[in-house]
Amino acid sequence: MTPTAEIICVGTELLLGDILNTNARFLAQELAKLGISHYYQTVVGDNPERIKQVVQVACDRASLLIFTGGLGPTPDDLTHATLADCFGVPLVEHPEIFEDIARKFAQRGRQMTANNRKQALLPAGADVLTNSGGSAPGIIWQPRPEVTILTFPGVPAEMNDMWQEVAVPYLINQGWVQNTVYSRTLKFWGISESALAEKVNSFFDLQNPTVAPYANLGEVKLRISAFANSEKTARDLIAPIEQQLRQIGGADCYGADDETLTFVVGQLLQTAGSTLSIAESCTGGGLGSMITGVSGSSSYFWGGVISYDNSVKVQLLGVNSEDLAKHGAVSSVVAEQIAAGVRSRLGTTWGLSITGIAGPTGGTAEKPVGLVYIGLAGEAGVQSFVHQFGALRGRDWIRHLSACAALDHLRRELLK
Ligand code: ATP
Repeated sequence: MTPTAEIICVGTELLLGDILNTNARFLAQELAKLGISHYYQTVVGDNPERIKQVVQVACDRASLLIFTGGLGPTPDDLTHATLADCFGVPLVEHPEIFEDIARKFAQRGRQMTANNRKQALLPAGADVLTNSGGSAPGIIWQPRPEVTILTFPGVPAEMNDMWQEVAVPYLINQGWVQNTVYSRTLKFWGISESALAEKVNSFFDLQNPTVAPYANLGEVKLRISAFANSEKTARDLIAPIEQQLRQIGGADCYGADDETLTFVVGQLLQTAGSTLSIAESCTGGGLGSMITGVSGSSSYFWGGVISYDNSVKVQLLGVNSEDLAKHGAVSSVVAEQIAAGVRSRLGTTWGLSITGIAGPTGGTAEKPVGLVYIGLAGEAGVQSFVHQFGALRGRDWIRHLSACAALDHLRRELLK
């Protein structure tokens, strides 16, 4: 049987929902990278009896138990004492740990308390898993031949460093890392999760690589994951599947992994030698912020106008007041005029505009909250697109989708 790991996060504050269990997420991703299977994650409060039960259950179904939390100096930090109890060994004081803690306190000009001594007590037979950043060390321990235990403090930054610096080399050394899971995530805009799932349905039955859909902040993703004995082999398994999925996705597939819509649009503008200006109403600068969030955007992005009040639309961008009165600010006519206006005033290849009702107030039966028009002006003329994002998920959601949709329309135009 392949040895498997179990992640066990200790802390009543996790159970209360006071903090998000980012340690479990980090460790899960790390285990996947190393190709170590794990089938269970457990969260348990600061209670020795329940921690013991968790250890018993975990020992029956996993051979690598990875703990986070409960290594601090306070009475509710019980991980090491409970583990010693579980395996019937005493706690042993490590003077070198105590000295190390004392030195770190002195360096920070802080006074050590008597209860810090507790952090130097480790189960007999356990090795120290050094914590160079914080006070509490963890342990690397094989209490039985078939069980390996790693413990880490709850503080994410300390846990992350200790994982990379000590745990990963240890696991490689011990032969835990023979396979790797490599993933590639294709990103889609302008298609719903269900519509995409229908198109690529047959891929969900694949065993290696696997293909799984995700939806997040309006975009849909397909994660292709391969299990192999090297990253190169995993990549080779993924490549043909990625190619087929990209072909099926067509223009809806905008990129992969770390590529964002904003980044991809920037690349396309750069390749075409084109420039962009924008005029935003309901997004109030959100689109500009996204565009300028990409390093190097100054080579294609010239600037924008937050044309919030109608007077700005008319005076700065040349919107026709009669059209404004007749159609309203949230209309295809005005979206097109502000796009054309900003393009001609800033002298760019493209002018992109957004006007809509972000709510929660301001909607009418004719123009409900979530109604958004996007204008796009280019050398060939001006066009507009209408979206109904709905009121349900609130103002920020509508503003985010509006900015992304505007970028996506420009992207599709640039691909033509
Ligand atoms: P310390 O020595 O700082 O007391 P510890 O090992 O005792 O560390 P905890 O007291 O359990 O760790 O947690 C310290 C802090 O670390 C928590 O207040 C919380 O902010 C964070 N933390 C703990 N567990 C997690 C977790 N699973 N995911 C994310 N953050 C966590």
